[in-house]
Amino acid sequence: MKNPTQEINISFDDYVRERTERIGRRMEGGVPNYAFASDYALRQKINQIPGVFTVFKALTSHMVPVMRQKFMREATRVTPNQFPKIFAMTKDCSEMLGIGLPTVYVQPEIGQLNAFAMAIEDSEPLVILYSSLVERTTDQELKAVIGHECGHVHNNHGIYNLIVEILVNGVGVNLPGVGDILRLLTAPIQIAIRTWGRAAEITCDRAGIICCGEADSTISVHGKFQSGGLLSGQAINVDELLTQYEAMRETPVRLQELVSTHPAGVRRILAAREFVHSEPFYSWHPEMKTPGMRLYTKEELDSRCKRYVDVMKGGK
Ligand SMILES: [Zn+2]
Repeated sequence: MKNPTQEINISFDDYVRERTERIGRRMEGGVPNYAFASDYALRQKINQIPGVFTVFKALTSHMVPVMRQKFMREATRVTPNQFPKIFAMTKDCSEMLGIGLPTVYVQPEIGQLNAFAMAIEDSEPLVILYSSLVERTTDQELKAVIGHECGHVHNNHGIYNLIVEILVNGVGVNLPGVGDILRLLTAPIQIAIRTWGRAAEITCDRAGIICCGEADSTISVHGKFQSGGLLSGQAINVDELLTQYEAMRETPVRLQELVSTHPAGVRRILAAREFVHSEPFYSWHPEMKTPGMRLYTKEELDSRCKRYVDVMKGGK
């Protein structure tokens, strides 16, 4: 009888070559092929604003070590023996995207649904999950969030993303000295960073969708963000949520203005629905492709999503 294991290629070199090729095929101009075009373009603009580098340097050298210590002290580190399901999800997501395994902490934060990544050059990437988020999401929704955070690592959002978290979600604002550094952020820098942040969230929602192989979990988790993730077991009806905002169509407001009145979460739901009909999504999931599918090109996808992002007024 033939030994089936003889047909398995156990060469590590071949494995590394195959993996590098697989990931390399999905990079374009140094950024992942799913990245929302405005994400990279806006980041380049931020770098050209005078004074940005000074603030970034101050934050990196001051805040990051303090925050790391805070997580080690106050949060629980995810390992194969501590929240093994979360560990397995993180492993899945990082392997899918082709990044190193980030360290994940579950931080006790009751009542606030949030997660963020801290991936600053020269130090291991961290993903922080608030306990309420872990508690109030399904496995697949949590995986969508972890995939989203891995997306921040994959796209080198680094310090920019941390500043968005500070400005929009108040992460670390109470740490000693952070307020002094924040005062260095002039209004134009704040506006530029927030605008970029909205584009970056679209990129990372796409990463989460790639990791899950579907958009439904990303969509339903945004529904939970929008309603606070009720613990009473009452599921959010996303279609009804969209109808709530679509109802504004009845008022004498034109479509473009209508979209601008939607909260950020609703617009991200709309953008997520577009992504699963695009070539970039299927380049990560060729096995799901069926003949004759009409898919948006990357350019079509980004221009459709741009209208949801450009007009965003709120934060996360
Ligand atoms: Zn994010």
